[in-house]
Amino acid sequence: MKNRRKRFFNLIAKWYNKPNCNRTLKTLLLALALGSQLGAVPLSVSQGGLVVLQRNGNEESVRVFDRTYYFDNHGRAYIGIDVGQEPGSYLVDGYQIDVMAGEFPIERWRMHPYAPPSKKRQVEIALFRQTFQSPVNLRTDLMHGSPFVSPLAVPIGLLQLTEQFAPIHRGIDIQTKEFRLDRGLRPVRAVNNGVVALKGRFSLEGNMVIVDHGMGIFSVYMHLSKILVVQGQTISANQQIGIAGATGRVTGPHLHFAMNIQDVYVDPVNFIKEANRYSGW
Ligand SMILES: [Zn+2]
Repeated sequence: MKNRRKRFFNLIAKWYNKPNCNRTLKTLLLALALGSQLGAVPLSVSQGGLVVLQRNGNEESVRVFDRTYYFDNHGRAYIGIDVGQEPGSYLVDGYQIDVMAGEFPIERWRMHPYAPPSKKRQVEIALFRQTFQSPVNLRTDLMHGSPFVSPLAVPIGLLQLTEQFAPIHRGIDIQTKEFRLDRGLRPVRAVNNGVVALKGRFSLEGNMVIVDHGMGIFSVYMHLSKILVVQGQTISANQQIGIAGATGRVTGPHLHFAMNIQDVYVDPVNFIKEANRYSGW
């Protein structure tokens, strides 16, 4: 997008995104933006969803909800919509994004009185955030056109979930008992090519591996009985990274699996489905 047009668009967006901008004014501003052929692409997404933005000019990055996302060499940027993002229409950097309220299950087993995190826990949380906020490379994807696969030897759509993605849970719990192969091994695989960004034993997560896939995209595997990779190791899609187990705070053996983009957790099942629409580049 040319600079003058971009400045014009940003001016419209500034007014559009104001909390007191009413519906009539929004419609007018939107018509102005679209009429000026700035290439605003209406994108509809739920809280916790994924937006794959196709570059509409030659800009190298896009700024959405206070984060900078770079376009890869296929001109695509992967944007995670936080579960806490207020539903509504947003005009961002030449794009219109409609955020809809997500439909989440009630998180019954998490209804316990709030206790402030301990010193040890605060250190752990800081480490996770630091990991998600310092990806290996925001501009290059490490997937290399490889589609995302299931973390277990069962297709993602056929996995038995014992707990869904929801605002506090921010991942899915996958039943691992019936995938018991010989001698009780439950191999957990990397969902795509990447680099091990963090591995270790943590108080709630138990043995955990975080894989960096480039572009700010991470996959997270918790409660492993055994970790089979080292920090910084390059791994390929489908490579075994550990064995499912019941370490950390659990009521039984399962795999907690999550996807994160620049410190925003997204629904991992939806992420894999959506991201794979663009694989095979
Ligand atoms: Zn879980």
